[in-house]
Amino acid sequence: MYQCPVCGELMDALTNVHCVSKHQETRREFIAHHGAPKFVSPRLTGDIQRWIRATQIITRTDFDVAQASARNLLGKRY
Ligand SMILES: [Zn+2]
Repeated sequence: MYQCPVCGELMDALTNVHCVSKHQETRREFIAHHGAPKFVSPRLTGDIQRWIRATQIITRTDFDVAQASARNLLGKRY
């Protein structure tokens, strides 16, 4: 998930609609002024949390794989 750097709202992606309706800027202007939205790990959502628990030992490499898998999972869901 991504977090708006200005209002802190969490969303699947920083959309033009959000930028225009909340911040009166186009997405391009918004990113130019405020930078790209922060990526927020979805580890607190239920499915991901259960999945993380199922993979007990997390090395740095495994963590990166987990992040990629989480993104894939969310990509499918949304
Ligand atoms: Zn915002």
